[in-house]
Amino acid sequence: MLKIEGLTAAVDGKPILKGIDLAVPAGEVHAVMGPNGSGKSTLAYVLAGREGYEVTGGSATWDGLDLLALEPEERAAAGLFLAFQYPVELPGVGNATFLRTALNAIRRARGEPELDAMQFLRLARERLRALSMPEEMLKRSVNVGFSGGEKKRNEILQMALLRPRLAVLDETDSGLDIDALRIVADGVNAMRGPDFTALVITHYQRLLDHIVPDRVHVLVGGRIVRSGGPELARELEREGYAALQAQAA
Ligand code: ADP
Ligand code: MG
Ligand code: MG
Repeated sequence: MLKIEGLTAAVDGKPILKGIDLAVPAGEVHAVMGPNGSGKSTLAYVLAGREGYEVTGGSATWDGLDLLALEPEERAAAGLFLAFQYPVELPGVGNATFLRTALNAIRRARGEPELDAMQFLRLARERLRALSMPEEMLKRSVNVGFSGGEKKRNEILQMALLRPRLAVLDETDSGLDIDALRIVADGVNAMRGPDFTALVITHYQRLLDHIVPDRVHVLVGGRIVRSGGPELARELEREGYAALQAQAA
């Protein structure tokens, strides 16, 4: 299970996370919702170990492993995957090369044999089909010239190839039209099972119509101010965050 206790973090010396307590039992999918600027991406980055996000207190463990003590690549080797809210463009780096390098690094860490170019291509084609992505996406530079929706689908393609045990999806729904939303949600739902745990971060409820979470947590001002079942997402959609923001302030 993912266990976060009293987690505080700062960016440029400014406190952003102000004591997060959150437990996601193995095999469950939890949603983190919240208004803009509440610290959702900061939480994702802290879990992934992004530079510049300073942990000032508390803990985050995954299967008893102290996540915060590990280098980002060690976290990935332990099965953690982060889908970025703003996927980075890598001009000159082919998407296929990038994906195969990432996949083989994970496979080495798991003690599995690496895939050669042909084996990788077979697997990638299968995953692309499942996500209704054209094969041409593999030939292009990573995310360069991709539309918002294509970038998000590319994040899900990475996830489908790497098959993480713990996934953090940061606003993967933003920029998606309704068909792409369904495809992305299907991609996540296909991973669900006892060996897949996820934190799905979203501002809106609509993604959660397709990925029905086991629990919903509301992050306001760097703290979880409410938790509940899937119905909490619909309540927020109706009533907005204003009341919870006023309460938190
Ligand atoms: P959310 O994802 O919920 O919209 P963020 O985690 O992106 O929220 O941001 C939380 C707060 O931290 C905001 O007030 C934002 O301005 C601030 N913040 C985030 N990243 C940085 C940064 N790199 N430098 C300075 N402030 C930042
Ligand atoms: Mg935001
Ligand atoms: Mg964000």
